[in-house]
Amino acid sequence: MSNSGPAASDAFEHGSLAGELDDQPLAAAPPEVDLPRIERAVREILAAVGEDPDREGLRETPARVARMYRELFSGLRTDPRVHLQKFFTEKYDEMVLVKDIAFNSMCEHHMLPFIGKAHIGYIPNGRVVGLSKLARVVEEVSHRPQVQERMTEQIANLLLEELRVKGVAVVIEASHSCMAIRGVRKPESICVTSAMKGTFRSNLSSRSEVMNLIYGHSK
Ligand SMILES: [Zn+2]
Repeated sequence: MSNSGPAASDAFEHGSLAGELDDQPLAAAPPEVDLPRIERAVREILAAVGEDPDREGLRETPARVARMYRELFSGLRTDPRVHLQKFFTEKYDEMVLVKDIAFNSMCEHHMLPFIGKAHIGYIPNGRVVGLSKLARVVEEVSHRPQVQERMTEQIANLLLEELRVKGVAVVIEASHSCMAIRGVRKPESICVTSAMKGTFRSNLSSRSEVMNLIYGHSK
């Protein structure tokens, strides 16, 4: 096993990839989203809470919300696997770490956004992907009704299955609107989830190495 101790200095560290994502707008969503159905539902909600859906300020709201949901749930009609199938063969077998991949997702329990950063570290096993592909995977997995725990596992499993990595570590930090604006109202709290597979699960020093790199205490 390759990576403990000073090998950490070989790891690739990258800042936010958000800019890269901005350069590549989401492909136009396929037409399967039933926009008129969402519009009818939003009108219903407005009426149900006691609003007048026909007043001027609300007239365009159902259509606007429908288009917004189409964008926020665009990941339901994409397969993040395809990004990991464009790997290249490389002998490199030290850790690759991409930090601070910004994302936004929708909590499936409340249909409210949770927003944060994903960190993905992996130890290749002959297959390496372009760094922007990892950001693509995060983007597509997050653009679905989600829970943070499942999203973390899904990203780790995708790398395990498609790249056959020796180890993968996914850490996600996010703040949840559903905790900030309703219920217990704890706007400052951050939820951290992690999925450790392969070497990162079995080897304590690999695990602490990746955590140190993510949180910036590298040796
Ligand atoms: Zn929630």
